[in-house]
Amino acid sequence: MNIIMLGPPGSGKGTQGQHLIECLGLVHISTGDLFREILKQPEHPLYRDVQVLKEGKLVSDEVTNRVVEDTLKKLKDAKGIIFDGFPRTTEQAQALDRMMSSLNMRIDAVLDLNVTREVILHRLLGRRVCPGCRRVYHISQGYTVCPECKVPLKIRDDDNEETINKRLDEYKEKTAALKDYYREHNCMYISLTIDDVSMTSQEVHEQIIQEFSKRGLV
Ligand SMILES: [Zn+2]
Repeated sequence: MNIIMLGPPGSGKGTQGQHLIECLGLVHISTGDLFREILKQPEHPLYRDVQVLKEGKLVSDEVTNRVVEDTLKKLKDAKGIIFDGFPRTTEQAQALDRMMSSLNMRIDAVLDLNVTREVILHRLLGRRVCPGCRRVYHISQGYTVCPECKVPLKIRDDDNEETINKRLDEYKEKTAALKDYYREHNCMYISLTIDDVSMTSQEVHEQIIQEFSKRGLV
């Protein structure tokens, strides 16, 4: 089963992807993670193209498609893939369709995490990340160091209100057409609205599994 996860930055795509990997044995392709890996390697051929992220901008379609295609080729034999942060535009979706069919693969479902701006600001402005194990915490949990590796938690460079609002506006504008594309596409489109800051990631996960099982996907 190959799934695309849609949702604005801070919608919890990464976390929900992790839950689904554990639950369903799928592989996770997160363009955000792939880009952050590239940013750790100044000698990487795409380093300069990915650096625009630090200005709150999105990486170009051309560069994103190259990064995804390189990764997909390595995952031809996977049980299933979850796409997180890709595709973001209809152009990228069409490119993905071409890549997938050339590898004899297809998209089975699109999961749209429709999280309100209020919930996203609450989550992202309070987000703290462990530089050691990459676990993500929230300031409301009261940790200053990672409980697992005792490393001090950090705020990610791009987690400030101005950058977040800019990214949300850009996301909304760019993905409106993408959502239409997938609603008309030959796969299942599942939209989940999350407008409650107190909803835990486990509760969201349970709702996702319910939606999948209603449709016979799991
Ligand atoms: Zn840690």
